[in-house]
Amino acid sequence: MKAHNNNKWFFRSPIWAATAVSLLTLILLLNWRTPNKVYQANTVLAGDAACIGTTTYAVIGDFGNAGQPEADVAALVNSWNVDYVITTGDNNYPNGEASTIDANIGQYYQQYIGNYTGSYGPGAAQNRFFPVPGNHDWNTGTLQPYLDYFSLPGNERYYEIELGPVHLFALDSDPHEPDGRSATSTQATWLQAQLSASTAPWKLISLHHPPYSSSSVHGSDPTMQWPFGVWGATAVLAGHDHTYERIHQGGIPYFVNGLGGRSIYSLGNPVPGSAVRYNLDYGAMRLEAAPTCLTFSFYSRTGSLIDSLTLYKGDHFSNQLYLPLATR
Ligand SMILES: [Zn+2]
Repeated sequence: MKAHNNNKWFFRSPIWAATAVSLLTLILLLNWRTPNKVYQANTVLAGDAACIGTTTYAVIGDFGNAGQPEADVAALVNSWNVDYVITTGDNNYPNGEASTIDANIGQYYQQYIGNYTGSYGPGAAQNRFFPVPGNHDWNTGTLQPYLDYFSLPGNERYYEIELGPVHLFALDSDPHEPDGRSATSTQATWLQAQLSASTAPWKLISLHHPPYSSSSVHGSDPTMQWPFGVWGATAVLAGHDHTYERIHQGGIPYFVNGLGGRSIYSLGNPVPGSAVRYNLDYGAMRLEAAPTCLTFSFYSRTGSLIDSLTLYKGDHFSNQLYLPLATR
Protein backbone atom coordinates (compact mmCIF):
# COMPACT_ATOMS: atom_id res chain seq x y z
CA MET A 1 0.00 0.00 0.00
CA LYS A 2 2.92 2.25 0.67
CA ALA A 3 4.08 1.89 -2.92
CA HIS A 4 0.59 2.69 -4.20
CA ASN A 5 0.55 5.90 -2.18
CA ASN A 6 3.98 6.79 -3.51
CA ASN A 7 2.72 6.45 -7.09
CA LYS A 8 -0.23 8.73 -6.35
CA TRP A 9 2.15 11.27 -4.94
CA PHE A 10 4.28 11.08 -8.10
CA PHE A 11 1.43 11.61 -10.54
CA ARG A 12 0.05 14.57 -8.58
CA SER A 13 3.41 16.27 -8.24
CA PRO A 14 4.99 18.86 -10.57
CA ILE A 15 7.78 16.34 -11.25
CA TRP A 16 5.39 14.32 -13.45
CA ALA A 17 4.39 17.34 -15.48
CA ALA A 18 8.00 18.40 -15.94
CA THR A 19 8.99 14.89 -17.00
CA ALA A 20 6.15 14.72 -19.54
CA VAL A 21 7.06 18.11 -21.03
CA SER A 22 10.73 17.12 -21.27
CA LEU A 23 9.87 13.87 -23.06
CA LEU A 24 7.58 15.64 -25.52
CA THR A 25 10.26 18.24 -26.25
CA LEU A 26 12.81 15.51 -26.84
CA ILE A 27 10.53 13.67 -29.27
CA LEU A 28 9.82 16.90 -31.17
CA LEU A 29 13.52 17.74 -31.39
CA LEU A 30 14.42 14.29 -32.67
CA ASN A 31 11.81 14.50 -35.43
CA TRP A 32 12.43 18.09 -36.46
CA ARG A 33 13.67 18.41 -40.05
CA THR A 34 14.21 21.39 -42.28
CA PRO A 35 13.63 21.00 -46.03
CA ASN A 36 16.98 22.29 -47.26
CA LYS A 37 19.23 20.57 -44.80
CA VAL A 38 20.83 17.26 -45.71
CA TYR A 39 20.65 14.37 -43.30
CA GLN A 40 22.49 11.11 -43.56
CA ALA A 41 22.10 7.53 -42.49
CA ASN A 42 24.64 4.76 -42.81
CA THR A 43 23.90 1.13 -43.44
CA VAL A 44 25.69 -1.89 -44.81
CA LEU A 45 22.45 -3.78 -45.44
CA ALA A 46 21.18 -3.41 -48.98
CA GLY A 47 17.64 -2.08 -49.01
CA ASP A 48 17.71 -0.88 -45.42
CA ALA A 49 17.15 2.88 -45.52
CA ALA A 50 18.53 2.96 -49.06
CA CYS A 51 17.15 5.51 -51.50
CA ILE A 52 14.73 4.15 -54.09
CA GLY A 53 15.76 6.48 -56.88
CA THR A 54 14.69 7.51 -60.31
CA THR A 55 18.19 7.60 -61.74
CA THR A 56 21.20 5.33 -61.24
CA TYR A 57 24.90 5.89 -61.73
CA ALA A 58 28.07 3.83 -61.59
CA VAL A 59 31.31 5.47 -60.51
CA ILE A 60 34.58 3.84 -61.56
CA GLY A 61 38.12 5.03 -60.95
CA ASP A 62 41.64 4.19 -62.11
CA PHE A 63 40.11 1.54 -64.33
CA GLY A 64 41.56 1.98 -67.82
CA ASN A 65 43.92 -0.99 -67.90
CA ALA A 66 42.69 -3.79 -70.15
CA GLY A 67 42.62 -7.08 -68.25
CA GLN A 68 40.68 -9.33 -65.92
CA PRO A 69 40.17 -6.88 -63.00
CA GLU A 70 38.71 -4.23 -65.33
CA ALA A 71 36.57 -6.88 -67.06
CA ASP A 72 35.20 -8.03 -63.69
CA VAL A 73 34.37 -4.50 -62.54
CA ALA A 74 32.75 -3.74 -65.91
CA ALA A 75 30.62 -6.90 -65.60
CA LEU A 76 29.49 -5.71 -62.17
CA VAL A 77 28.67 -2.25 -63.51
CA ASN A 78 26.80 -3.68 -66.50
CA SER A 79 24.75 -5.93 -64.20
CA TRP A 80 23.43 -2.77 -62.49
CA ASN A 81 21.88 -1.47 -65.72
CA VAL A 82 22.71 2.13 -64.74
CA ASP A 83 21.69 5.26 -66.57
CA TYR A 84 25.13 6.87 -66.42
CA VAL A 85 28.78 6.03 -65.78
CA ILE A 86 30.97 8.62 -64.04
CA THR A 87 34.73 8.15 -63.76
CA THR A 88 37.27 9.52 -61.33
CA GLY A 89 40.08 9.46 -63.91
CA ASP A 90 43.05 7.45 -65.15
CA ASN A 91 40.87 6.16 -67.95
CA ASN A 92 43.71 5.07 -70.22
CA TYR A 93 46.92 3.58 -68.82
CA PRO A 94 49.79 4.02 -68.97
CA ASN A 95 50.20 7.19 -71.03
CA GLY A 96 46.79 8.27 -72.30
CA GLU A 97 47.68 7.41 -75.89
CA ALA A 98 45.34 7.07 -78.87
CA SER A 99 46.79 3.61 -79.57
CA THR A 100 45.56 2.21 -76.23
CA ILE A 101 42.39 4.20 -75.48
CA ASP A 102 39.81 1.96 -77.16
CA ALA A 103 41.17 -1.31 -75.70
CA ASN A 104 41.28 0.32 -72.25
CA ILE A 105 37.85 1.98 -72.32
CA GLY A 106 35.63 1.04 -75.25
CA GLN A 107 36.32 -2.69 -74.92
CA TYR A 108 34.41 -2.64 -71.63
CA TYR A 109 32.26 0.50 -71.67
CA GLN A 110 31.46 1.37 -75.33
CA GLN A 111 27.72 1.04 -74.77
CA TYR A 112 27.76 4.20 -72.61
CA ILE A 113 29.90 6.33 -74.95
CA GLY A 114 28.20 8.78 -77.32
CA ASN A 115 29.60 9.47 -80.82
CA TYR A 116 31.63 6.31 -80.32
CA THR A 117 34.25 5.79 -83.00
CA GLY A 118 35.96 2.67 -81.61
CA SER A 119 35.76 -0.93 -82.71
CA TYR A 120 33.91 -2.73 -79.90
CA GLY A 121 30.30 -1.96 -80.76
CA PRO A 122 27.81 0.71 -81.75
CA GLY A 123 28.26 2.97 -78.70
CA ALA A 124 25.42 4.93 -77.11
CA ALA A 125 22.75 6.92 -78.96
CA GLN A 126 23.31 9.68 -76.38
CA ASN A 127 26.45 10.00 -74.29
CA ARG A 128 26.10 8.36 -70.86
CA PHE A 129 29.82 8.23 -69.98
CA PHE A 130 31.26 11.15 -68.02
CA PRO A 131 34.97 10.89 -67.24
CA VAL A 132 37.49 13.28 -65.72
CA PRO A 133 41.13 13.37 -66.81
CA GLY A 134 43.73 11.72 -64.55
CA ASN A 135 47.49 12.13 -64.53
CA HIS A 136 47.86 9.05 -66.77
CA ASP A 137 45.50 10.60 -69.33
CA TRP A 138 47.81 13.65 -69.38
CA ASN A 139 51.03 11.62 -69.23
CA THR A 140 52.46 12.66 -72.58
CA GLY A 141 51.72 16.32 -71.84
CA THR A 142 48.62 16.45 -74.03
CA LEU A 143 45.05 15.34 -73.45
CA GLN A 144 44.31 15.13 -77.17
CA PRO A 145 43.48 11.39 -77.47
CA TYR A 146 40.98 11.77 -74.59
CA LEU A 147 39.46 14.91 -76.12
CA ASP A 148 39.16 13.15 -79.48
CA TYR A 149 37.65 9.96 -78.03
CA PHE A 150 34.93 11.51 -75.84
CA SER A 151 32.17 13.99 -76.64
CA LEU A 152 31.76 16.00 -73.45
CA PRO A 153 30.21 19.37 -72.57
CA GLY A 154 32.07 22.66 -72.33
CA ASN A 155 35.82 22.55 -72.86
CA GLU A 156 35.66 18.76 -72.12
CA ARG A 157 38.54 18.99 -69.60
CA TYR A 158 36.15 20.27 -66.94
CA TYR A 159 32.42 20.67 -67.36
CA GLU A 160 29.01 20.51 -65.73
CA ILE A 161 25.92 18.54 -66.74
CA GLU A 162 22.60 17.67 -65.14
CA LEU A 163 21.94 13.92 -65.04
CA GLY A 164 18.52 13.41 -63.49
CA PRO A 165 18.44 14.81 -59.93
CA VAL A 166 22.26 14.97 -59.88
CA HIS A 167 24.13 17.98 -61.20
CA LEU A 168 27.63 16.71 -61.98
CA PHE A 169 30.63 19.04 -61.85
CA ALA A 170 33.58 17.23 -63.42
CA LEU A 171 36.97 18.82 -62.74
CA ASP A 172 40.46 18.53 -64.18
CA SER A 173 42.73 18.26 -61.13
CA ASP A 174 45.90 17.60 -63.13
CA PRO A 175 48.76 20.14 -62.92
CA HIS A 176 48.71 20.32 -66.75
CA GLU A 177 45.25 21.97 -66.67
CA PRO A 178 45.63 25.35 -68.46
CA ASP A 179 42.97 26.98 -66.24
CA GLY A 180 44.74 25.97 -63.03
CA ARG A 181 43.99 23.70 -60.09
CA SER A 182 44.22 26.01 -57.06
CA ALA A 183 41.15 27.14 -55.09
CA THR A 184 41.49 30.60 -56.70
CA SER A 185 42.16 29.39 -60.26
CA THR A 186 40.00 30.16 -63.29
CA GLN A 187 38.65 26.61 -63.03
CA ALA A 188 37.74 27.03 -59.33
CA THR A 189 36.10 30.40 -59.97
CA TRP A 190 34.02 28.74 -62.69
CA LEU A 191 33.04 25.93 -60.30
CA GLN A 192 32.01 28.27 -57.51
CA ALA A 193 29.76 30.25 -59.88
CA GLN A 194 28.22 27.09 -61.37
CA LEU A 195 27.52 25.57 -57.96
CA SER A 196 25.94 28.81 -56.81
CA ALA A 197 23.69 28.96 -59.88
CA SER A 198 22.57 25.31 -59.68
CA THR A 199 19.12 24.51 -58.32
CA ALA A 200 19.57 20.73 -58.64
CA PRO A 201 18.79 18.61 -55.55
CA TRP A 202 22.26 17.04 -55.53
CA LYS A 203 25.54 18.59 -56.63
CA LEU A 204 28.37 16.10 -57.05
CA ILE A 205 32.01 16.90 -57.72
CA SER A 206 34.15 14.40 -59.63
CA LEU A 207 37.91 14.78 -59.91
CA HIS A 208 40.99 12.59 -60.00
CA HIS A 209 43.34 13.75 -57.21
CA PRO A 210 41.73 13.14 -53.79
CA PRO A 211 41.48 16.16 -51.48
CA TYR A 212 41.56 13.66 -48.59
CA SER A 213 42.92 10.11 -48.63
CA SER A 214 44.49 7.68 -46.16
CA SER A 215 46.41 5.69 -48.75
CA SER A 216 50.14 5.44 -48.13
CA VAL A 217 50.82 5.79 -51.88
CA HIS A 218 49.49 9.29 -52.69
CA GLY A 219 47.39 10.47 -49.74
CA SER A 220 45.59 13.81 -49.43
CA ASP A 221 46.19 16.49 -52.07
CA PRO A 222 46.08 19.80 -50.15
CA THR A 223 45.88 21.89 -53.36
CA MET A 224 42.55 20.22 -54.19
CA GLN A 225 41.05 20.94 -50.76
CA TRP A 226 38.78 23.60 -52.19
CA PRO A 227 35.85 24.63 -49.94
CA PHE A 228 33.46 22.36 -51.87
CA GLY A 229 30.94 22.12 -49.02
CA VAL A 230 30.86 25.87 -48.44
CA TRP A 231 30.31 26.38 -52.18
CA GLY A 232 27.27 24.10 -52.08
CA ALA A 233 28.54 20.68 -53.17
CA THR A 234 26.78 17.60 -51.79
CA ALA A 235 29.73 15.20 -52.03
CA VAL A 236 33.10 14.74 -53.73
CA LEU A 237 34.14 11.69 -55.80
CA ALA A 238 37.88 11.20 -56.34
CA GLY A 239 40.35 8.49 -57.41
CA HIS A 240 44.15 8.38 -57.93
CA ASP A 241 44.65 6.24 -54.82
CA HIS A 242 43.63 2.68 -55.71
CA THR A 243 41.51 2.18 -52.60
CA TYR A 244 37.96 2.83 -51.46
CA GLU A 245 37.46 5.31 -48.66
CA ARG A 246 34.71 7.54 -47.24
CA ILE A 247 35.88 10.60 -45.37
CA HIS A 248 33.73 13.31 -43.76
CA GLN A 249 35.23 16.79 -43.99
CA GLY A 250 33.67 20.25 -43.93
CA GLY A 251 30.19 18.82 -43.49
CA ILE A 252 30.15 16.64 -46.64
CA PRO A 253 31.36 13.15 -47.60
CA TYR A 254 34.49 12.72 -49.73
CA PHE A 255 34.97 9.40 -51.51
CA VAL A 256 38.16 7.84 -52.82
CA ASN A 257 37.20 5.29 -55.48
CA GLY A 258 40.20 4.00 -57.44
CA LEU A 259 39.64 0.23 -57.47
CA GLY A 260 38.36 0.07 -61.06
CA GLY A 261 41.00 -2.28 -62.44
CA ARG A 262 44.60 -1.03 -62.54
CA SER A 263 46.02 -2.20 -59.18
CA ILE A 264 45.38 -1.99 -55.43
CA TYR A 265 47.20 0.36 -53.06
CA SER A 266 47.98 0.06 -49.36
CA LEU A 267 46.38 2.12 -46.62
CA GLY A 268 48.28 4.29 -44.17
CA ASN A 269 47.13 6.04 -41.01
CA PRO A 270 43.49 7.19 -41.27
CA VAL A 271 43.14 10.91 -42.03
CA PRO A 272 40.75 12.90 -39.80
CA GLY A 273 37.14 12.16 -40.73
CA SER A 274 37.90 8.78 -42.30
CA ALA A 275 34.84 6.58 -41.73
CA VAL A 276 35.29 3.54 -44.00
CA ARG A 277 38.42 2.17 -45.74
CA TYR A 278 38.69 -0.82 -48.06
CA ASN A 279 41.44 -2.28 -50.25
CA LEU A 280 40.81 -6.04 -50.31
CA ASP A 281 39.53 -6.27 -53.89
CA TYR A 282 38.56 -4.26 -56.96
CA GLY A 283 35.09 -2.73 -57.20
CA ALA A 284 32.86 0.20 -58.09
CA MET A 285 30.29 2.57 -56.62
CA ARG A 286 26.60 2.51 -57.41
CA LEU A 287 24.55 5.68 -56.82
CA GLU A 288 20.79 5.89 -56.72
CA ALA A 289 19.17 9.32 -56.70
CA ALA A 290 15.70 10.77 -56.23
CA PRO A 291 14.92 14.44 -55.55
CA THR A 292 14.84 13.85 -51.78
CA CYS A 293 17.34 11.02 -51.28
CA LEU A 294 20.68 9.84 -52.61
CA THR A 295 22.46 6.57 -51.80
CA PHE A 296 26.17 5.95 -52.38
CA SER A 297 27.21 2.27 -52.24
CA PHE A 298 30.53 0.59 -52.90
CA TYR A 299 30.57 -3.04 -54.04
CA SER A 300 33.54 -5.35 -54.51
CA ARG A 301 33.80 -7.03 -57.94
CA THR A 302 32.22 -10.16 -56.48
CA GLY A 303 29.12 -8.14 -55.63
CA SER A 304 29.66 -7.77 -51.88
CA LEU A 305 28.31 -4.53 -50.44
CA ILE A 306 31.22 -2.88 -48.61
CA ASP A 307 29.75 0.52 -47.66
CA SER A 308 26.54 2.46 -48.11
CA LEU A 309 25.58 6.01 -47.22
CA THR A 310 22.19 7.63 -47.80
CA LEU A 311 21.63 11.38 -47.75
CA TYR A 312 18.13 12.79 -47.32
CA LYS A 313 16.58 16.19 -47.89
CA GLY A 314 14.48 17.30 -44.94
CA ASP A 315 11.19 17.09 -46.87
CA HIS A 316 11.86 13.38 -47.47
CA PHE A 317 10.58 12.96 -43.93
CA SER A 318 7.48 15.15 -44.11
CA ASN A 319 4.31 13.50 -42.76
CA GLN A 320 6.35 10.72 -41.22
CA LEU A 321 7.27 10.16 -37.59
CA TYR A 322 10.90 9.11 -37.39
CA LEU A 323 12.79 7.60 -34.52
CA PRO A 324 16.28 8.90 -33.87
CA LEU A 325 18.86 7.54 -36.31
CA ALA A 326 20.70 5.64 -33.57
CA THR A 327 17.75 3.36 -32.89
CA ARG A 328 16.91 2.49 -36.49
ZN1 LIG B 1 46.28 8.84 -60.92
